[in-house]
Amino acid sequence: MVASSGNPRNEPVLDHAPGSEERRALDAELARQASTPLALPLILGDARVFTLKTSAFSAPHAHALVLGEYSVAESEHVAQAVAAARQAKPSWAALPLAERASIFQRAAELAAGPWRPRLLAATMLNQSKTVYQAEIDAIGELCDFLRFNAAFAGELSEAALISTEHEKNRWDLRPLDGFVLAVTPFNFTAIAGNLPSAPALLGNTVIWKPSPLAMLSAHHVLELFLAAGLPPGVINLVQGDAPRICERVLSESDFAGLHFTGSSQVFRGLWAQIGARIGSYRSYPRIVGETGGKDFIVAHASAEVAPLATAIVRGGYEYQGQKCSAVSRVYLPASLAEQVIDSVRAMLAAIRVGDPCDARNFLGAVIGRASFDRITGYLTRARADARCKILAGGTTDDRVGFFVAPTLIEVTDPSHPLLSEEIFGPLVTIYRYDDDRFAEVLTLCDEATPYALTGSIFAQDRDAIEQATERLRMSAGNFYVNDKPTGAVVGQQPFGGSRGSGTNDKAGSIWNLTRWISPRVIKENLRPPRDFRYPFLVSD
Ligand code: NAD
Repeated sequence: MVASSGNPRNEPVLDHAPGSEERRALDAELARQASTPLALPLILGDARVFTLKTSAFSAPHAHALVLGEYSVAESEHVAQAVAAARQAKPSWAALPLAERASIFQRAAELAAGPWRPRLLAATMLNQSKTVYQAEIDAIGELCDFLRFNAAFAGELSEAALISTEHEKNRWDLRPLDGFVLAVTPFNFTAIAGNLPSAPALLGNTVIWKPSPLAMLSAHHVLELFLAAGLPPGVINLVQGDAPRICERVLSESDFAGLHFTGSSQVFRGLWAQIGARIGSYRSYPRIVGETGGKDFIVAHASAEVAPLATAIVRGGYEYQGQKCSAVSRVYLPASLAEQVIDSVRAMLAAIRVGDPCDARNFLGAVIGRASFDRITGYLTRARADARCKILAGGTTDDRVGFFVAPTLIEVTDPSHPLLSEEIFGPLVTIYRYDDDRFAEVLTLCDEATPYALTGSIFAQDRDAIEQATERLRMSAGNFYVNDKPTGAVVGQQPFGGSRGSGTNDKAGSIWNLTRWISPRVIKENLRPPRDFRYPFLVSD
């Protein structure tokens, strides 16, 4: 039992109003991190390994702002990480759950307290998040994952089996029989922290392959765990060439689980590699992957315009549309379309894009060159496509950083790629439908894309809400009524989608934690029988 877990509360978000104490501390830390580039090592057991081969990285919103360089792992370092994970496993797994949980709960206290400016500044500079976006991610969600997982693990450990007077039955919540590989995305510091720590909480040891685009925050998150008392070797940080590192890790016979968040394509590739090697593993590896999305808003003719337009702007453009849950396609009834479009355009006109450390800016830069080029490609094709009309934005500028103007496009073809492909940038596509084709548009929405992550219905008419909720039952793992489809909170809206969007194991929930244990059942007989014969047998 995890007696100290109590009932966790969601970590409150601080305002960072000008002149506030938290704002002063953050500004000082931003200046410190911006002027002190770090050399980031591999963290393998108790060794911090600096390699000859390194890769420099800078802020997405300022090419000139070099934040540091990270060591690049070779095959021998991956082997060292695996050896460290193996070595750390017996004593870590033997530690009572309450002790392991205390370490991650302590990490949450540090993150919410003295480490707050450090995690916020790293996330703002490295991933180009505004202070609010960094707060809800690197502090709010990270602390929530750590505290709620501790509580959920406690609940798991309290599950009881039926015992009788003479026979005792109990669960033994063993970790997996091997090590876990955590592969994390760039877009959330909290996810980066959760993917290795959730399996570790349950007694597993982990190889963590972070995103090269979020190295600074990954480094600080592991340092946070170590500062909170995590023994060396429980989580080992190995960055570098992703396919090579993963291939090397997946070749180990005691690879026992993959905890992945990122694009669907990469996840499928990893799954295929695991499948191809399935005969070589000691166990059947657990595979958990939360992947891409093409998240929708369907508006009914009874929808209120102001909340709908606000949901499009906040849901579609916050963090530059780089949330897996970001609104990316909107189905608007013809009777409301003009009002909604006008309202969204007015809001976009008031939005400033730039350095996220400047509190006047609502948007920062997109994460890097590949992303910038991909989004630019969509915009170039849209400009030349008679089925597309650019209603707002549509411009990009990479002279100082990777900036993309928040863009609204209307398409006339419901099967247009802009309505089906994940773009992962500040680009929202509208499709206008005749009001009396609501049922048809629900089918369009369901069938337009392989993804099924998040989505919303906006309506005042209760029948329309009911109809959409039913028809779109399999179209989103997180479904919202009259709200934007982003901003899921741990413990309130456990997150994950199905179809091409992932295995839907709901990060930060008890369902996810069950994937990292391999329970053993122990029966003890207090009065073992001494005669093979049952009472039904008739004796001579
Ligand atoms: P990505 O797939 O490019 O990278 C994810 C991780 O995989 C990184 O660590 C990367 O280095 C690694 N990787 C890349 N290629 C690889 C390969 N060939 N073999 C092994 N590993 C490889 O994703 P990203 O750009 O970091 O993140 C954005 C994606 O993540 C989007 O598709 C988004 O929808 C998704 N996402 C989903 C959720 C969710 O909960 N469903 C949450 C966040 C992000």
